[in-house]
Amino acid sequence: MSEPVRGRAIYEGKAKILYEIENNPEHLILFFKDDATAFNAKKRGSWERKGVVNSQISAALTTLVQKAGVPTHFVRNLSDREQLVKRVDIVPVEVVVRNYVAGSLARRLGMEEGGKLSQPFVEWYYKSDSLDDPMLLTQWILEFGYATMDELSAMKEYALTINRVVGTFFDSLGITLIDFKVEFGRSAGSIVLADEITPDGSRLWEKGTNRKLDKDRFRRDLGDVAETYEELLQRVEAALANS
Ligand code: UDP
Repeated sequence: MSEPVRGRAIYEGKAKILYEIENNPEHLILFFKDDATAFNAKKRGSWERKGVVNSQISAALTTLVQKAGVPTHFVRNLSDREQLVKRVDIVPVEVVVRNYVAGSLARRLGMEEGGKLSQPFVEWYYKSDSLDDPMLLTQWILEFGYATMDELSAMKEYALTINRVVGTFFDSLGITLIDFKVEFGRSAGSIVLADEITPDGSRLWEKGTNRKLDKDRFRRDLGDVAETYEELLQRVEAALANS
């Protein structure tokens, strides 16, 4: 296949841009920016190579989950921060998986972060910046047609597989996968993972010290943000090179 020629931008999000490809309606180019936002874009930042690090980590982890049987939109890397992906219809339901108490769960229930859950939780949130991504009940998703029961079942199964595969991988690096968020899309009528798997959308804590290796460094002004993202990429690449 000839190298794709970038067309117009059809979507620009907080950390990524999606471009059409000339003469190729089935695929898109996903470009990872150096921008970071938190608290629904109330806090903004940017650092050099952030997009490169996220693109590389996401491509590596997405490839791992693809091998474990989760269909994804990822086709291949085009450059150090651009990926060829399938064009999908995004399901407006964000899927959060939690293994430990942290973030909004800790905040809402007035709990300390770090308690282990007896089993992973799968939670649904409405993908809406203007509403601040409110939590959804399954009945609401079905009632308002955001997804069907079959789609929710597939999303739950895939999310738990991602949790197992990515969690086991990070365990081998001495890192605990605390929680993460993923989004899915519809491709030819079936559900596929259509999102990044990066430290922007996950909580990753170093075992033993609980040092945070994720976007909480930016959200909470913990310092060494760029350095920590680079360190995570190096650890991911080293582990894959040895596998
Ligand atoms: N998350 C995300 N995008 C969102 C909301 C959450 O990527 O819009 C990720 C977040 O990084 C964390 C997990 O989902 O890894 C659970 O987030 P939580 O509900 O605790 O919300 P937070 O306190 O991070 O806003």
